[in-house]
Amino acid sequence: MIQLKNYINGELVAPASGSYLDNDQPATGEVFSQIPDSNEEDVKNAVDAAEQAFKTWSVTSKNERARVLNKIADLIDENAEELARAESQDNGKPLKLAQKVDIPRARDNFRFFATGIMHFASESHAMENTAVNYTLRKPLGTVGCISPWNLPLYLFTWKIAPALAAGNCVVAKPSEVTPVTAFKLSELCIQAGLPKGVLNIVHGLGASAGSAIVNHPKIKAVSFTGGTQTGAAIAAAAAPKFKKLSLELGGKNPNIIFADCDFDEALKTSVMSSFANQGQICLCGSRIFIERPIYEEFKEAFIAKVNKLKVSYPNDPEANLGAVVSKSHKEKVLSYIDLAREEGGKILTGGTEVVLEGEYKNGYYIRPTVIEGLDYTCRTNQEEIFGPVVTLTPFDTEEEVLKMANSTDYGLAATVWTQNLKRAHRVARDLESGIIWINCWLLRDLRTPFGGMKSSGVGREGGFEALKFFTEPKNVCITY
Ligand code: NAD
Repeated sequence: MIQLKNYINGELVAPASGSYLDNDQPATGEVFSQIPDSNEEDVKNAVDAAEQAFKTWSVTSKNERARVLNKIADLIDENAEELARAESQDNGKPLKLAQKVDIPRARDNFRFFATGIMHFASESHAMENTAVNYTLRKPLGTVGCISPWNLPLYLFTWKIAPALAAGNCVVAKPSEVTPVTAFKLSELCIQAGLPKGVLNIVHGLGASAGSAIVNHPKIKAVSFTGGTQTGAAIAAAAAPKFKKLSLELGGKNPNIIFADCDFDEALKTSVMSSFANQGQICLCGSRIFIERPIYEEFKEAFIAKVNKLKVSYPNDPEANLGAVVSKSHKEKVLSYIDLAREEGGKILTGGTEVVLEGEYKNGYYIRPTVIEGLDYTCRTNQEEIFGPVVTLTPFDTEEEVLKMANSTDYGLAATVWTQNLKRAHRVARDLESGIIWINCWLLRDLRTPFGGMKSSGVGREGGFEALKFFTEPKNVCITY
């Protein structure tokens, strides 16, 4: 049994309350770690440490900040295997996915912003004969970073790295469902020589530790990734205090397949974009729209491929899907499959949980599920399920598919498959999504603006967008 600690003022400390929460392993359903049940007092201690550290960190040279962030990246690399095993154990995802995607990306986040800050410049606006304006950008102070469970270390570091690179000090909280790699990161930060108080990691529940971060008067900005409802609660708490907010929220992403697509490529990638990480990536396409002339052919080929996916324990090298993250999440996903049946959907494959044998018999496994025959306006097609469940819907015209694709409250990501260049540009222009992939999926350049519109969020992460978010611009106007 691992007992995690908070990371406050450069030290690993027990929670003020002395109480801990159980954390279970999705693959087996067994409790394997305990996490601090932190409260306002822990957050206060973390903010005090951050405020003190800010006096030095904010005036530390960019070179030095970049050096320390690169050192953390080196240590993530050196400990990659241990981190991947911890991530897979905590989250239920296949080990090979954590090895290939989660941990390398956490390392890259630190490297990317360590170099990014060296290239970050501000604007000047010259007025012909009178004056010149230039923009100064200063770090904000102490900021809060709150992240979800689906890509634990990947998304946690995606916030922390730009905040630190820009000269802020951070109080961060990982999801209480997947806290282990964040704890391991605190050990690596100590090893890397990150000055005390610059990064503080407080573990615990959203309603207590998370809310204490959002409400603390000294926290100047909150960068949050998680569910739309939580985002709304955070926005409501932060608005009267005029805190800066970056909100990366839920999605219900369309995957649009035109008849002129590269069929094999669209098929292969759509299986991935539907079921990678058990469908628990905010960017997964959960509504697949297929142009009628290829509907039947695509459907058959898709089901054949899905039927070959192996649902297994995360350490199985052949596992395509591991366990979903928790018992309650498993029940939520299964309840949506029941709802789909009630709404008249036909389950083409999947639709049930998977019970493995031996030590894995109480784990949280669900078969990849494909449903057809639902109206695009029904709840199954409008609400985020965030599991291995997709619906198939035929369409006849570009206009019709755009109407269906844009019909949800969400607007995070969309995928379009076509060989027609003009149509690709047109559809990309008219889709209400912050991120659009044409003939690919999840191809990421960390410099691009990342985020959603409508109920999928406010603001953008990535590249200079993140560095801008974590700095305060000040215009200086000086006459000639
Ligand atoms: P969640 O909203 O339940 O929790 C996210 C984090 O917020 C956790 O750390 C939680 O403890 C904390 N939290 C909860 N209530 C809080 C409160 N009142 N104040 C402050 N913090 C609080 O989300 P989740 O279930 O962990 O993650 C799944 C959701 O995240 C899905 O909706 C998914 O689409 C979304 N997501 C979005 C993106 C994106 O980039 N847009 C990426 C990944 C996941």
